[in-house]
Amino acid sequence: MTIENQSFDVIIVGSGYGGLLPAYQLTQAGFKVLLIERGKAWQRNMFRHSWAPEYLGGLFDISLSTSMKDIYRGSKIFGGGSVMNDKVHHRTPSEAFSFVDPDTKRAAWPSNVHREALNPFYKQVEELLSIHQLSWEEVSRIGGNFARMFADAGLSCDRNNFNVGTGCVHCGFCEAGCQFPGGKLNLVSEVFHLALETGNLEVKVETSVKTVAPVRSGGYEVHCISSDKSYKAPATSTFTAPRVILAAGPIGTVPLLFRSKAHLPKLSSALGKWISNNGDMNFILRTPDSYPDHLGFRSATSTGVMTYAFWDEHHITMHPGMAPIPVFAGVDARREGGLAWGLEHKHFVKKNVVNRLIPVNAMGVVPAEIKMEIDHDGNAKIHHPRTKALEEHANILYRLMKGVCQTVGGELLITGIDGELFDMGGNHILGGARMSEQKSTGVVNPSGEVFDYPGLYVSDASSIPGSLGINPALTIGANAMRIGHELIRSVGGKP
Ligand SMILES: Cc1cc2nc3c(=O)[nH]c(=O)nc-3n(C[C@H](O)[C@H](O)[C@H](O)COP(=O)(O)OP(=O)(O)OC[C@H]3O[C@@H](n4cnc5c(N)ncnc54)[C@H](O)[C@@H]3O)c2cc1C
Repeated sequence: MTIENQSFDVIIVGSGYGGLLPAYQLTQAGFKVLLIERGKAWQRNMFRHSWAPEYLGGLFDISLSTSMKDIYRGSKIFGGGSVMNDKVHHRTPSEAFSFVDPDTKRAAWPSNVHREALNPFYKQVEELLSIHQLSWEEVSRIGGNFARMFADAGLSCDRNNFNVGTGCVHCGFCEAGCQFPGGKLNLVSEVFHLALETGNLEVKVETSVKTVAPVRSGGYEVHCISSDKSYKAPATSTFTAPRVILAAGPIGTVPLLFRSKAHLPKLSSALGKWISNNGDMNFILRTPDSYPDHLGFRSATSTGVMTYAFWDEHHITMHPGMAPIPVFAGVDARREGGLAWGLEHKHFVKKNVVNRLIPVNAMGVVPAEIKMEIDHDGNAKIHHPRTKALEEHANILYRLMKGVCQTVGGELLITGIDGELFDMGGNHILGGARMSEQKSTGVVNPSGEVFDYPGLYVSDASSIPGSLGINPALTIGANAMRIGHELIRSVGGKP
């Protein structure tokens, strides 16, 4: 029987953390699930050791803010972010869940969604992906030099928790897709087959959901197009189920709901609001001259260390190595007082890029002040205002990192853009269809169900109410499993 002629209990849109994990739970619990994914299915031998834009363009969904200053990267491949992210999987510290939105003066998170409530689901995701703390032997030299800068400044820095197996060859191309069996352990290699083996899962790849609409007899239909078409193209296939879970990531789910507004007129006005970039700020450090060369980005499992040294006071974490050094160093960085281009900069980069420069990704708990709408083609249009809170966050980070560099003799590089200390784009966009106890401040209730549309759920990063201040994938996955668990229980199933 073709997929078109089958009936399903649940349709899931998107196969990243928010989609594949509930697909696993639901199929194990006996639900018949259709998983629709815009990206391609893949074999490990399709991945390349390349940072060429035309290659990465096949893996990443790239959105530019309306100011053209920030680049946001989502994923567009079967398995979502788990296939091309950097593998850092940490539980969010409990303080982040107590954040109060400065605009509403209300708690950003529903009172029943907090660290303790997520702990059992964190554990499940950690077990499924074999997430564990690295040994120091597995930490790259660049990670070692970063940790040493912190140690020499009297600050702590420890090894990351990674989903990496014994097949890792330490090539450092984790974000280009891992070619090596048993290397990066992603949702496809570790979880997908468990769902498939139940016989309850059907998958449709290279298919984009254009809109979702309620059907009179109950449930929802999803209207699909081939992924190589624009969202303006008419839908070419439709699937129906009593329940639909949207898990297309923030730059997938939020535009999908906007495109569906004519069918879902009671959607909350909170759609496209309370979005954060997780307080991401990206910059480059130069190590002190006395440190050993760190041999660039070539490394064991990218960089492998994380510091919580500033968490207690500032709710900031950071780790080195979120992008290949040549990309960062060449494109948009300058020494203070210097230019981001010209001969002096060229010689500085040439001399330091391989052995002295460390790209760093810092994250913080900041207000969710980004907004999203859609353009004429139905794709994400992102406004990232430079607010007072963001400026304050950047200034604190600047002071902290200047302090570290002054103490140990390193150097902090800032962006080439006037008035912008740090690059504020990134990979950790959260919210836009967030959970809330009230419809006025969220699109879905604490169980992930869209207000006024029973049976329609959002389980991905767009449901996350605020910035986490730490890499979000593990929390997105744990929250998706919490939502899946509640869905199964709500219909009398056994999670
Ligand atoms: C380069 C990079 C590195 C990162 N590194 C880390 C890290 O080390 N640690 C960490 O915690 N986080 C990291 N992240 C972030 C993390 O991967 C994401 O936060 C996470 O994947 C979000 O999960 P999600 O389920 O919301 O969306 P995704 O994982 O992005 O999954 C969404 C899926 O939906 C599909 N989709 C989109 N639109 C449609 C549509 N209309 N129809 C059908 N399918 C659709 C997409 O193709 C995609 O596969 C990184 C992200 C990037 C881009």
